Amino acid sequence: MISHVEALQHVLERTHRLDAVTVPVEQAMGLVTVHSVIAAEDVPPFVNSAVDGYAVRSGDITAAPVHLQVVGEVAAGASTDRAVGAGEAIRIMTGAPLPLGADCVVMVEETERVLGEVEHVVVHTSVPVGTALRGVGDDIAEGALLYPAGTEVRPAVAGVLKSVNVRELAVTRRPVVGVLSTGDELVDDGSPLAPGQIRESNKTMLLALVAETGCTAVDLGVIRDDEGALEVALRHGAERCDAIVSSGGVSMGDYDVVKAVLSRIAEMRWMQVAIKPAKPFAFGLLSRISSGPCPVFGLPGNPVSSLVSFELFARPALRQMMGHQTLQRPAAVAIAPDGLARRTDGKVHFARVQAAFGLDGRLQVRTVGAQGSHQLAATSLANALAVLPDGDGIPAGGQVPVMLLSLG
Ligand code: AMP
Ligand code: MG
Repeated sequence: MISHVEALQHVLERTHRLDAVTVPVEQAMGLVTVHSVIAAEDVPPFVNSAVDGYAVRSGDITAAPVHLQVVGEVAAGASTDRAVGAGEAIRIMTGAPLPLGADCVVMVEETERVLGEVEHVVVHTSVPVGTALRGVGDDIAEGALLYPAGTEVRPAVAGVLKSVNVRELAVTRRPVVGVLSTGDELVDDGSPLAPGQIRESNKTMLLALVAETGCTAVDLGVIRDDEGALEVALRHGAERCDAIVSSGGVSMGDYDVVKAVLSRIAEMRWMQVAIKPAKPFAFGLLSRISSGPCPVFGLPGNPVSSLVSFELFARPALRQMMGHQTLQRPAAVAIAPDGLARRTDGKVHFARVQAAFGLDGRLQVRTVGAQGSHQLAATSLANALAVLPDGDGIPAGGQVPVMLLSLG
C-alpha cells in the first residue's frame, strides 16, 4: 500500500495545465487567468455622491439648521454645468457627479424640502468636507495590478473586470472530462431490476462532481464488462476529452475486464492506497492520435469510494489542468463533540461528517451515520471529510482535521 499523498503526487506529476484561450468574461467563470490584469481605468471615474441628498458647501452649513436655495438637480448618468454657489444646494442622486462648487453631500434624511416660488431646503446637520463622496479611483486606481496571473474568475472578479472595460481575457481552457461507469450489473434506463442488477449511481454523481469542479462533463455511458466495448468507449472518450473518469473494475478481486483493457491500451499504475474508503485506485495515460496522452482516472466502483477517490485524486488533478494554484479543498481543524470511532488498520480514514459552527463559535463535526463504502445515502448528507489517522479514533471533544467539501 502507498499513502494517499504519494498517489496524488503520482497523478499530479502526470497531469499538466491545458493551453490558454481568450474568451468573453461571461464565459470565463471558474477559469484561471494566464496573464496579470492591470486596470486601464479609474473606478469610479469621477467624484460622485454615495447617497441621495443635496450637494452643498460644507462651510455654508456649519450653523445648521440652515436654509439653502435649491438651484438644480443631478441624477446618475447626468451632469450639470451649474455650480453650487454660496447659500445654494443642488439635489443629487446616488452615483451622480458632484457639481462644481460643492464639497460634500448631505443625505436626504438630514434635510427638509421647502416648496415655494423658489425651492429651498433646510439642512439639519453640518457635515465636514468630503462627506458622502466617492473619490476618483477609490475602488480601483488606473495602472494598479488588479489580479495576478493564476486568479480564478469568480462572479465578483468578473464584475470587476467589466468595471474596468476588460471584455475578454486569456484563461486556461476549460477541460472536457468524460465520465463512464463499468459493470454488467448496472441499470441506467429505469427498467425493472433483474436478479443481480442494481441501479447506476456513480456516473450521475461523477458528472456532477466534474461540473462542480468547473470542467465540461461529457457522459460516456455505462459500459458492459466487455473488453471490446470498453476499449471503444475509452478510445472514443480520449479523442473527445481532456481526461476520463471511470468507475468500477479496479479492485484486487475484480473480474478483470477494466484492468485487462486499460493495461493493454494505456500506461497504467494500479495502486492500493492506505485509505478507507477508496483503497484501490488506478491512474494512467492513454495515448491518442489527436494530441498528447489522455489522463484516465480509474476510481473504485463502490459509490462512496468513487466519491472519496474523486475528491482526493481526480479533483486536484483537474484543478491543476485548469491552472489553479490551490488544488485542495479548504482544510480546517474541528472539534468532534461525540468523538469519531475507528479501528487500527494501517489506513487513514476519511469519515463522512457534517461540519457546522457550534454555539461556542468553533467548527464541530459529527458523523453522518453509516460509513460503509456502499452506503451513499448517509454520505450524501456530508459536507466534509474528517481525516482520521491510523489508530483508534478521536475521543469525544477531541480535535480532528477536516476537508471541507462545501460550506452550504
Ligand atoms: P467494482 O469496483 O466494479 O468491483 O464494484 C464495486 C461495487 O460497486 C459493486 O457492488 C458494484 O456493483 C458497485 N458499483 C460499481 N459501479 C457502480 C455504479 N456505477 N453505480 C453504482 N454502483 C456501482
Ligand atoms: Mg464492476
